[in-house]
Amino acid sequence: MNANEFDLFVIGAGSGGVRAARIAASHGARVAIAEEFRVGGTCVIRGCVPKKLLVYASAFADHFEDAASFGWTLGEPRFDWAKLVANKDREIERLEGVYRSNLEKAGVTVIEGRAVVDGPHRVRLEPDERHFIARNILIATGARPNPAPELEGSEHTITSNEAFHLAQLPKRLIVVGGGYIAVEFAGIFAGLGSEVTLLYRGEEILRGFDDDLRKGLRLEYERRGIRVLCNAVLERIERTGEGLVGTLAGSGERLLADEVLLAIGRAPNSSGLGLEALGIELGRHGAIPVDEFSRTKVPSIYAVGDVTDRANLTPVAIREGHAFADTVFGGRPTSVDHSLIPTAVFSQPEIGTVGLTEAEARARHEVVDIYKTSFRPMRLSLGSRQERMLMKLVVDQRTDRVLGCHIMGPDAGEMAQLLGIAMGMGATKADFDRTIAVHPTAAEELVTMRSKWTD
Ligand code: FAD
Repeated sequence: MNANEFDLFVIGAGSGGVRAARIAASHGARVAIAEEFRVGGTCVIRGCVPKKLLVYASAFADHFEDAASFGWTLGEPRFDWAKLVANKDREIERLEGVYRSNLEKAGVTVIEGRAVVDGPHRVRLEPDERHFIARNILIATGARPNPAPELEGSEHTITSNEAFHLAQLPKRLIVVGGGYIAVEFAGIFAGLGSEVTLLYRGEEILRGFDDDLRKGLRLEYERRGIRVLCNAVLERIERTGEGLVGTLAGSGERLLADEVLLAIGRAPNSSGLGLEALGIELGRHGAIPVDEFSRTKVPSIYAVGDVTDRANLTPVAIREGHAFADTVFGGRPTSVDHSLIPTAVFSQPEIGTVGLTEAEARARHEVVDIYKTSFRPMRLSLGSRQERMLMKLVVDQRTDRVLGCHIMGPDAGEMAQLLGIAMGMGATKADFDRTIAVHPTAAEELVTMRSKWTD
């Protein structure tokens, strides 16, 4: 093999691409990976990791408030956005280095620049027109924030990409969108002291999540002073002497803001990759269609992660990348089960969820039992904050299997991870009931709910 020939050429060094490259190399493949921006991809550079760091920063507002009820006297807390951004950037740079060195240690060749597919076994690097030959090509190019070209004045908006690097903390922020990214950024900036309005065109935020969580989180956000406007569409944005002015369709209400953050979904990064020329027709929003082994219509070309628009989460992209490498280079055909994916929304309060929503369960099962409870977490019991914690189990009455578990409150994401194991093993409500509680915790409510919920 000469220097430009590889067993595997991966396009995109994000969650899925990096895992696939490392595992393929560990199976003995000669691997190259091309990255046009920064090694680590969305999750590490401008997604999960920096987002969670901002959530931690934002949550101190609650901790300071709660501290007084436990006897602490604090000085006037002051927040320095520039310091947070600098510290966060230092950590992201460190992680990027770790990702790069792990690739190099695995023997993977890291190539900087945008790569496109030039044939079933050919890749072209756009900056210098270099060509590479590969037995297999893996597309792991992720997704990007949707713009809103139809919105007049959309050039004044930012997306999550820019939100991580604002020169200053916006005093007034409009977040447009109702998905988890919109909701998370609304919570982050509200906690840091911004006056936040969340605008969503649909009936209720967090479409796809259980209705009790959707409504519960909206109420908590409103309690925190976030203005949540559902059925609201922004008609135009203008820059004026007072800042940005967003005008709502219908009512014509004018909203003032220093920044308008668009979080209205993400689209697969598949355009201009040269796929159509090979007969790979792109699906909805540009998703690359693949089979259960992540193989496209062209047998030598595979795709994993957000670019395939299956379940757009880091652990899923990683699992798909790993399964691809085991299938193609490890002699072990492996597909990924997308049916039961525990997940979290790092809103404040946090959400953790696994399995079917109540509405989904009722559509698929004859009789469904609901167990739910709402209470003030013990952590808040000495103070005046009125936040409620919510827990809900959705159970198939016929088999007693727990079909869904939905939590809103502190550490809900941590709980969802463990519930995912139990539910993946087919846990029944009787299994939950048999489990001895850990006391005093919030999670113990999950194993002590005995009465069916009746409306
Ligand atoms: P990516 O990680 O996006 O990597 C794709 C890489 O390909 C990028 O580095 C890109 O620069 C590169 N690239 C694209 N085109 C080319 C090309 N032609 N040539 C070379 N390189 C190219 N998921 C969670 O599980 N939990 C969370 O809490 C969470 N929070 C998120 C918060 C935000 C704000 C965002 C935006 C996303 C979040 N996600 C979260 C989703 C998660 O980041 C993605 O699902 C995950 O990164 C997808 O991995 P991937 O490998 O498919 O793509």
